[in-house]
Amino acid sequence: MSVDTSKQPLTTPAGTGPLVRLEQVTKRFGDNTVLDHLDFSVDAGKHVTLIGPSGSGKTTILRLLMTLTKPDEGTITVDGERLFPASEKQCREVRKKIGMVFQQFNLFPNMTVLRNLTEAPVTVLGLSKDEAEERARELLDLVGLADKCDVRPTQLSGGQQQRVAIARALAMRPKVLLLDEVTSALDPELVAGVLDLLRDIARSTDITMLCVTHEMNFARDISDQVLMFDSGRILEAGPPEKIFGDPEQERTREFISAVL
Ligand code: ADP
Repeated sequence: MSVDTSKQPLTTPAGTGPLVRLEQVTKRFGDNTVLDHLDFSVDAGKHVTLIGPSGSGKTTILRLLMTLTKPDEGTITVDGERLFPASEKQCREVRKKIGMVFQQFNLFPNMTVLRNLTEAPVTVLGLSKDEAEERARELLDLVGLADKCDVRPTQLSGGQQQRVAIARALAMRPKVLLLDEVTSALDPELVAGVLDLLRDIARSTDITMLCVTHEMNFARDISDQVLMFDSGRILEAGPPEKIFGDPEQERTREFISAVL
């Protein structure tokens, strides 16, 4: 089924609907239908966790929201503004509202930690260097790395690099923070610190979070809603106590007990 998007308005007033909305989103890679007419939305300030087996389409959703890839069909709206379909210019504007933290940190290796945090706020948001540095120092303090401003990312541990990546995403003051398996590249002893930091951010800010994770305890702690994916569809969705405690689907139960 395809969706005729031509009659829908390009924007709806900000703040009137869910902050993130996917409607009938389909994504294919060749013959492989990775997302199949997917519908879901996330209200402002909520924390939604995407769980499910490898290859079920979770990362693709985050990549669509980051405009790293485009859907074949459907509509994506963020903060009342179209991200897809939309002009490149509109897409760039909406994209400013979204921050992402990746599995592999993706820091700029040739820049200091401070510059990693100031680069985009200066070039994309137009902040002055002083404003950007002030914000960057506050965020590095928040993530416990105030003393690392002048070092290069490669001089830091994986856990510290991931903290810098989280601070860098927050430096853009995004409305939505996307977290893609942010602890899966870390040594086991560094995982808890990064998850604790994210718990703090979830608790102490009003940022909306979409999080792909295999860390089920973390998912249970921070989520308002958990979406269980299987083969490009949402198999079931609900609050963490329901999904982890009393899921409807046997497939969900099997998956959770396999990864816990
Ligand atoms: P998950 O995050 O749930 O592990 P992904 O969203 O990464 O799943 O991938 C879903 C499916 O899409 C997989 O079958 C994967 O091989 C395929 N896929 C993802 N990215 C690409 C790509 N760039 N080219 C071809 N296939 C891709």
